[in-house]
This record gives sequence, C-alpha cells and structure tokens, in this order.
Amino acid sequence: MTTTLPAYDEVVARFEPVIGLETHVELGTNTKMFCGCPTDFGGEPNTRVCPVCLGLPGSLPVANKAAIEATVRIGLALNCSIASWCRFARKNYFYPDMPKNFQISQYDEPLCVDGYLDVEVNGETVRIGIERVHLEEDTGKTLHVGGATGRIHGATESLVDYNRAGIPLVEIVTKPIPGTGALAPEVARAYVTELRDVLRSLGVSDVRMEEGSLRCDVNTSLNLPGAEWGTRTETKNVNSLRSVERAVRSEMLRQASVLDAGGRITQETRHFHEETGDTTPGRSKETATDYRYFPEPDLVPVAPDPAWVAELKAALPELPRLHRRRLQQEWGLSDLDMQSVLNAGAVELIEATIAAGTTPAAARKWWLGELSRRANETGVELADVGATPAQVAELQGLVDAGKLNDKLARTVLEGVVAGEGSPTEIMTDRGLEVVSDTGALTAAVDEAIAANPDIADKIRSGKVAAAGALVGAVMKTTRGQADAKTVRELILSRLGAS
Ligand SMILES: [Zn+2]
Repeated sequence: MTTTLPAYDEVVARFEPVIGLETHVELGTNTKMFCGCPTDFGGEPNTRVCPVCLGLPGSLPVANKAAIEATVRIGLALNCSIASWCRFARKNYFYPDMPKNFQISQYDEPLCVDGYLDVEVNGETVRIGIERVHLEEDTGKTLHVGGATGRIHGATESLVDYNRAGIPLVEIVTKPIPGTGALAPEVARAYVTELRDVLRSLGVSDVRMEEGSLRCDVNTSLNLPGAEWGTRTETKNVNSLRSVERAVRSEMLRQASVLDAGGRITQETRHFHEETGDTTPGRSKETATDYRYFPEPDLVPVAPDPAWVAELKAALPELPRLHRRRLQQEWGLSDLDMQSVLNAGAVELIEATIAAGTTPAAARKWWLGELSRRANETGVELADVGATPAQVAELQGLVDAGKLNDKLARTVLEGVVAGEGSPTEIMTDRGLEVVSDTGALTAAVDEAIAANPDIADKIRSGKVAAAGALVGAVMKTTRGQADAKTVRELILSRLGAS
C-alpha cells in the first residue's frame, strides 16, 4: 500500500499525540537471574546454560540478590516507591527461544512503582511519570538461516541460542505522556537518553543499544483535541536514540493518514525499519489475560528491608541532571552554552580534558570547535573522532607553554586525529614548533623591512599600527611558525619605534 503521508506540521496542528515508553535493560550482574550461569556478551551458542535456565524438569530457580539490589537502586533513582513485599509471576506463552514456555516476570506486584524522571527538551523541563520498574528474565535468541534477510520468511532452518535466556532484565514503563504536541518525538528521545545516562551513572548496565542491553518499545497514539486518547500501537525494539525519535514521528504520520482516510488504528505491535524509517505491522497485541499470569510458586516473595532500601538510597551517586548542573556552574556556562555542549555530546569529553589539566574554556574550545567540525564532516560521534581528552589537554599545554600558536595547534590536531601520534611527537616530527628565538627571527625581520621600505618608513615616523603588515610578511616566510608577539617587538625595536 502506498499512501502519501501528510506533512508533520499539519498532523500536529490537527492531532494530539500521546506517547509511552517501555524500556528493557539487561543488568550487568555476573550471573543470571535465577541460576549461576555467566552473563557476558558473546560466547559460543548454548555454552552458558544449565538445567535452571534451560527449564529442565526438577530444577529450581533462586533469585539473584545483586539483580534485586540493582532494580531497587534504579527505582530509587527514578523517584519510585519500593514495595515492601512483592512476588514474581509466571507469564505463560510459547516461544522457541524461551525454554520453560513461561517467563518469570512481575505482574501486579512490581518491585518499584509510581516515580518520575525529569528530562530537558529545548531548555524546558518535562516530567515523565514512571508507572513501574520490575524485574524479569530475558529470553534466548532465535537465528533464522538460509533466507536473504535473516527473517523467518524464506529461511530454511532456525537455530536457538539460550545463552541470553535468564539474564536479568529490568523493565521500566512510563505513564502515558500527553501534551507534548509537536515535540513528542524529541521528548521520547530525551527520555531514553536521560534514562540511559541515569542507568550508566548507577553502574547497573552497560546500556549499549547496539548490543541490545538497552531496548526500547515506543507506544504512540493520536487523538483529536479534547477527544479521548486514540488506540495505541507499540513499535518494538527500537535500537538507537535516533530511531526512537524517528519511530514516534513516522508512527504519528502513518496514524494520521489512516485516520484522515476514515480508517481505524489497530492495536498491534509494529516493527521499525532502520533503513526506511517506517514501521510495519507485527502481531496483534495480546492482552494481559492471554498470558494467564499467576504467582511463581518456586520462588519466595521479595521483601526488601526498609533499612536496606534507605541505605541504598543514601548511597546513590550524583545523578546526571544534578551532575550537569554542577558542571555548568563550575565551568561558568550560560544555559545556552551548556545546551550546545550537551547537543554536541561533549560533556564527558570536556570533563575528562579538564581532569587532564586544562581550563574549562580551552577544553570547550577544542571539543566544540575544531573537533566537532571534524566529527560532523566525517559523520562520527564526537567521542570517536580520533582524539582523546588526554591528547587535547596535552595540545593545549603546548599552546600555553608558547610552543604552539593557534594555527600550528590546529595543524598538530589534524595529525592527532589522523593517528600520527601524540601532540608533542607530531610537533617535533613535523618541526611545527613556534620559533621565538630572537636570533633566528632577526634575519627574517630584516628581510621584511628591506622588502617593504614604505611601510618601514611609516613605522619609523610613529605609525606603529603599520607593523601588522610586516608581522604578516615574517609569518609568511617562516610558514606561520614565528611567535607573532616576538616578531612585532623585533620589528619595532629594529625601526626604533619601540
Ligand atoms: Zn543457567
């Protein structure tokens, strides 16, 4: 079906979007949720398994305390109430990559409920309600082979790998988020970004979207102003921050075109396609009753001691929002300047550069100037541009010591990015050091005076501003390596004008 999608501006002028996000986070515990199998990424298929995570008869699960602790800490960081008593539940469904034919999850008794996360979009704070944070186990992975696309259609056989089955998974569900209008896609992205940063600061997960340790499902619906909320769709497993934003936007456009044509939105899951930026239907959405949830009889209830929870709360690290606010103050930046640092993804890089011995102003100058430009040109993230904070600090140290001027420093930085070595090595190897030795510069100065007698006369008669032209001439003959200040002083003293 090919339909022409309406323009985004038109859609948000006529419809109000409501979004919601469900995020799955693989915890970075050493062992799985209910057994002692290791959890690290990779490994030969089906080598990190045991009777418990394979669901063999007679095996019994035991809950991983580190996973419960991590989940409580996530709940606390998201301002949730922590249950004083809760149970795991069996969620029954058949799936080849789920060896027990049920998943141990939490249903009506989640570990953490009713919190919020503040995110910033365009300088405004948006409070995102958190409905629940619960703990469950991950499934294995199915691999379809023989087909062209890696999907089940056209495949000749399917393989299952249970290494991931049983890895602790935390699900974080937002409350519905109405009222964001045209900003809905950006709010969704800002939320996942902030959540990722919070999880990283807690050290509970490596939060790598590309490896699937952070996965996001995006709910989207549209309604007419003042009307009831529309039917929502759930776009599954969106794998990058950029895709979160694109998935919301594309689903808003698609739903608007269906509604405009007098159609109805089906409640269903949809798949997001990275290449085209659109979604296609998956299965029609199950309701909770399809899963026949019941309390997991093989596990004791979880009853976190309030004193332990209070201890965990007191020991939470400084969370990203507060951390950023403190840095902004320390660096003396306006809101706008801080925003450009954030947009460039440069906070941690600047922080590390300062830690390596540079002033905030110098660190910011390099990362937001030369290196951001370079990252944009080559289409990479700033962190992958090829220079490290330590190298940038070293470069600035050479500038501060008068060994490099700005122009030479930029040339050296190009060498650093190209992998030629450290700033000092490149400066030495390429002979880029500033020449401030008076003896070496006098000849060049005399040459410039001789070649420009008119200008020299002006300077002799007191027009010292004319010295700039001679400085320029000396810089040219020394290929930019002369120290401009020294050159100027030499010119003035040779012409008796100082
Ligand atoms: Zn196991």
